[in-house]
Amino acid sequence: MNNQNLTGKVITPKDSSYDNERSIYNAMIDKKPALIVKCRKTEDVVNAVNYARENNIEVSIRSGGHNGAGLALVEEGLVIDLSEMKAIKIEAQAKTAIIESGNTLGDVDAATHEYGLALPSGIIGTTGIGGITLGGGLGYLSRKGGLTIDNLLECEVVLATGEVVIAKKDSYSDLFWALRGGGGNFGVVTSFKFNLIEIKNVYAGPMFWPMEQAEEAIKFWDTHTKNASNNLYGFFAFLIVPPAEPFPEHLWNKNVCGVVWNYTGPIEKAEEVFKPVRAFGPPILDFVGEIPMPALNSMFDALYPKGMQWYWRAHYIKELTPESIKINIEHGSKIPTMHSTTHLYPVDGACHEVGNNETAWANRDARWSQVIVGVDPDPAKADEVTEWCKDYFDALAPHAMGGGYVNFMMNEGQERIKASYKENYKRLVEIKTKYDPTNFFHINQNIKPS
Ligand SMILES: Cc1cc2nc3c(=O)[nH]c(=O)nc-3n(C[C@H](O)[C@H](O)[C@H](O)COP(=O)(O)OP(=O)(O)OC[C@H]3O[C@@H](n4cnc5c(N)ncnc54)[C@H](O)[C@@H]3O)c2cc1C
Repeated sequence: MNNQNLTGKVITPKDSSYDNERSIYNAMIDKKPALIVKCRKTEDVVNAVNYARENNIEVSIRSGGHNGAGLALVEEGLVIDLSEMKAIKIEAQAKTAIIESGNTLGDVDAATHEYGLALPSGIIGTTGIGGITLGGGLGYLSRKGGLTIDNLLECEVVLATGEVVIAKKDSYSDLFWALRGGGGNFGVVTSFKFNLIEIKNVYAGPMFWPMEQAEEAIKFWDTHTKNASNNLYGFFAFLIVPPAEPFPEHLWNKNVCGVVWNYTGPIEKAEEVFKPVRAFGPPILDFVGEIPMPALNSMFDALYPKGMQWYWRAHYIKELTPESIKINIEHGSKIPTMHSTTHLYPVDGACHEVGNNETAWANRDARWSQVIVGVDPDPAKADEVTEWCKDYFDALAPHAMGGGYVNFMMNEGQERIKASYKENYKRLVEIKTKYDPTNFFHINQNIKPS
């Protein structure tokens, strides 16, 4: 095959950088693509799409390479690697940003923070803007500003035909609807235009309670945040305290429960807002205080570097019942390794102001997206963290809504994908059939054309 029509930097198994270029965040994944095309501009993406289509080669799309199931890579196929497409243009007056797909959330935070602005997105700075946006986008600003897709204004997309289109509210509106939650099924998004919200410093950080207080703590957090304004966000977690500074030594390696808070209201009111929170317990660790937004968004980056073993599963949760709380405490007490954890991310507040069928993201009636993550640096622990994760997931399944956040899914089969998109699945199939009838883009949580 003559790959002279490919532009950008083309990497093959013969290149010394090949192993580095095919490595992604989850070290459980070991796929060997035939070609990695490091695109620098839209034209490189067009050429890669045309080349793969004309030569009948499977393609995957990589932005940040964070996908747990390893969907950034394709065995023996062509990887359209966008990680070098890093332009960001902020329009401070209009409070918008045009962001190329190779940027990480850390890049986006750094650029927007300079203007006192922020994009609601995820909680780890190394995650790619491409995958997180197309799957939905949950994070510390979800209650205030909605999902990442709720702030999306337009996308530049390379379709399976190689055609470049702009999808927005009044142009390719069906495609724009599908891109907001439907993942990488419809084309390669080379850049996104977002609305930004005004955020500079926040009053935020983790607060822990002992496991003996877990039942009261989770109930307190549930009722307290239910009645709170959208300025107060907190995700609940079961975790093992890392044996390192800044955590106090007497807590190292202890199983605890906790909340990572983010208050985005007037800073002078923060102490008052946290009075009832601090009165509960009291907490055994309280690192909540005023910090810049990017410091919150990168707080756990060092704890979770690239190259560990990851296995995760996800549920949508509408209500915490006495039985589901019991299950959470039981499995949360058996966390197998220090990096493993479970988080319940709020999807209420501003996320509930958008209807279930206004975007492809069909789970606005959930209150939380729960992720159960088994993680460890040691490959010998891969089975142990996977088993714990699956057992926890199975035990909670009868208390969950069905389906799961596609960005937190492994390869879990077609029924799980359908359950995640619920009543929106039918429309997604129609749009997939219109824009990608041959299922050219299928290395993803796949929506099959009819
Ligand atoms: C440590 C960690 C923390 C995370 N935290 C959060 C969080 O706080 N909130 C949250 O919502 N999610 C979170 N996630 C999940 C994350 O959203 C997904 O893993 C997402 O797929 C990562 O995007 P990426 O660009 O890095 O992925 P990649 O692995 O590069 O891509 C994954 C898939 O997304 C699609 N895709 C990516 N870019 C494009 C593009 N430009 N055009 C078309 N399709 C594309 C493709 O189908 C691709 O296979 C986290 C993941 C990890 C590992």
